Amino acid sequence: MPAIEMTGLRGAGRTYAVTGRPGLHVSVANLGLACCAVEFGSAVTRGLLEPADPTWEPEMTVLVVSGTLTHQLTPHLTAAWNAVVGPRAVLALGACATSGGPYWDSYAVVEGIDSVVPVASYVPGCPPRPEALVAAIVSLAGAS
Ligand code: SF4
Repeated sequence: MPAIEMTGLRGAGRTYAVTGRPGLHVSVANLGLACCAVEFGSAVTRGLLEPADPTWEPEMTVLVVSGTLTHQLTPHLTAAWNAVVGPRAVLALGACATSGGPYWDSYAVVEGIDSVVPVASYVPGCPPRPEALVAAIVSLAGAS
C-alpha cells in the first residue's frame, strides 16, 4: 500500500493540544491525505495547535482526516481509526473529507469519509481555515 502522512497517533507520531487551553484534555491526531493537511500544518506553525506531552493522558482523541480519500486509501483510514486508543472522535477537515469535494464524481474518490468511519464533526471549506479546525476541536470537547 502507498505511504501516507500520519501524525499524532499515539505510539505512531506526534499528538497535539489546543494552545492556551490547558483545561481542554483533548489530543489531536492528523491523517493527512491531501492539501487540507497543509491547513492542519498551518494551525501548528501559527501556534493554534502545539505538540502535546507524549506522556499526557487525554480524555479524548480527535482524529482529523484532512484531504481526499481514495478507495485505495480506505484501509489506511480504517487502520488509523482502529489505532486510536480510548474515547475518540473523527473530524472531517474540508470538502474532500466531507463529500469528495471537487473530485466527488471521480471513480477513485470516496464521496465522504463517513462511509468508512463515523464522523462527529465536519469543517467545510476548500480549503478550510485553520481557525475553523481549532473551533471544531474545541466544540467537540464540549467547550467554547
Ligand atoms: S477540500 Fe480542497 S484544499 Fe482540501 S484536500 Fe480537497 S481540494 Fe485540497
